Amino acid sequence: MDRFEQTICALATPPGEGGIAVVRVSGPDAYPIVEKVFAPLRAGRTVAAARGYTALLGHYTLRGEEMDETIALFFRAPHSYTGEDVIELSVHGGAAMADGLLEALLLAGAVPAAPGEFTRRALEHGRLSLTQAEAVMEVIAANGRQGAALAKSALDGRLAKRIGRIQAALQSLNAHLTAWVDYPEEDVPELSGAALGAALSAQQAELDALIAGYGAGAVLRHGVDCVLLGRPNVGKSTLLNLLAGFDRAIVTPVAGTTRDIVEQAVQLGEIRLNLFDTAGVRNVGEGGDAIEAEGIRRSWKKLDEAGLVLAVFDAAQPLDEADFAIARRCRGRPALAILNKQDLTGSTAAAQAALQPYFKQVISICAKEEAALAPLTAAVAELLGTAQLDPHAAQLCSARQLAAATRARDALAQAQEAVAAGLGLDAVAVCLTDALQALCDLTGEDAAEATIDEVFATFCVGK
Ligand code: GDP
Repeated sequence: MDRFEQTICALATPPGEGGIAVVRVSGPDAYPIVEKVFAPLRAGRTVAAARGYTALLGHYTLRGEEMDETIALFFRAPHSYTGEDVIELSVHGGAAMADGLLEALLLAGAVPAAPGEFTRRALEHGRLSLTQAEAVMEVIAANGRQGAALAKSALDGRLAKRIGRIQAALQSLNAHLTAWVDYPEEDVPELSGAALGAALSAQQAELDALIAGYGAGAVLRHGVDCVLLGRPNVGKSTLLNLLAGFDRAIVTPVAGTTRDIVEQAVQLGEIRLNLFDTAGVRNVGEGGDAIEAEGIRRSWKKLDEAGLVLAVFDAAQPLDEADFAIARRCRGRPALAILNKQDLTGSTAAAQAALQPYFKQVISICAKEEAALAPLTAAVAELLGTAQLDPHAAQLCSARQLAAATRARDALAQAQEAVAAGLGLDAVAVCLTDALQALCDLTGEDAAEATIDEVFATFCVGK
């Protein structure tokens, strides 16, 4: 049987304890199946006669036994999330009642939904575009309000519109070029090299903006892996406590107590930092402490993978060779230098100047005071580009979309090179066609089954 001829069901709310649990049923037999398991309370009411956008109170039964009180919410095709007949059944939270309901539905002829299958059906029935389907996943996964707003704007179709404008511009350019190349006798006015170059670079700039926003958008939605780095005693643990809001790491005036990488997620403004507190980084000689050396090795390794590096320095002491060894490692990375213990010194200007060449940004704070959070939050948002990002503007929201947008951008860059090199317009047209194909891949127009599978591979059941 074709998959869409089957009626699927799954838990739509997260597993675990909660006030209510919602089980969603979708497919051609949603009504007859639910009819078998759900009994309305009021006499005369039936599932079969229920109209769309109405609700019924009743209970469900499993193997003849009356189970939990249930509210059924009815949707009629095509006016539902999936575009099919859909019924959402709410029972009391916790796993037991929802599990019983799922069992009853399976016994009545429903099949378990595959990961993302509700959304996939919505896509197949034209209720959502591929970029919107991806956005559903991002809204579900987003862990901050701005991140959610960002994903929501893709869900609203704003991303598809933004890409659509680029497509339309390129298409009209392509049509013009093709007409000129294929029908020279038709008197199509030739585009000047300058006009063509300008049109291409305008669309490339649009794509560049989208691509640039991706990193910052991903940071808002998923947070960033962050490494805390610095010599012993500069105040890393104190800073961690400030970020975490409670005494998480052991703070002691003795050097080298933070031996392992402490993993912890903290919220800094709109950004979630996945923190790796590191062992005090210092040169470990022959007689050095082996455990600490291992911790240091691991923190260097983490440094390569981190999306954000917070390098802490002691403003009350002159910067030494160990400090500069850290600074050199930070060069070219998304790293913020934090001159700590500002309260113990008159001016940090000289140290700031000395560190400036190695870092994207340098700030001075006193980690013992909560007031340090504001400048820290601002500096991190600035460094990661989230400060500049409008969460309501459409952004790319998956690695797949990023790859397609990058291909389109590169093709446009090639087209401009072709124009600049004075190559024939047919060479330019070939590049334009590549760019348009990449944009079609992005939006999912004539997307291959493999692309759609890839999108849904990251979905969870019930969505
Ligand atoms: P770590 O080894 O880098 O983790 O450093 P700690 O966080 O353990 O801090 C070492 C010492 O410096 C502790 O006694 C802290 O109380 C102190 N300390 C940390 N930050 C500041 C600060 O901003 N001002 C002052 N005066 N002392 C600080």
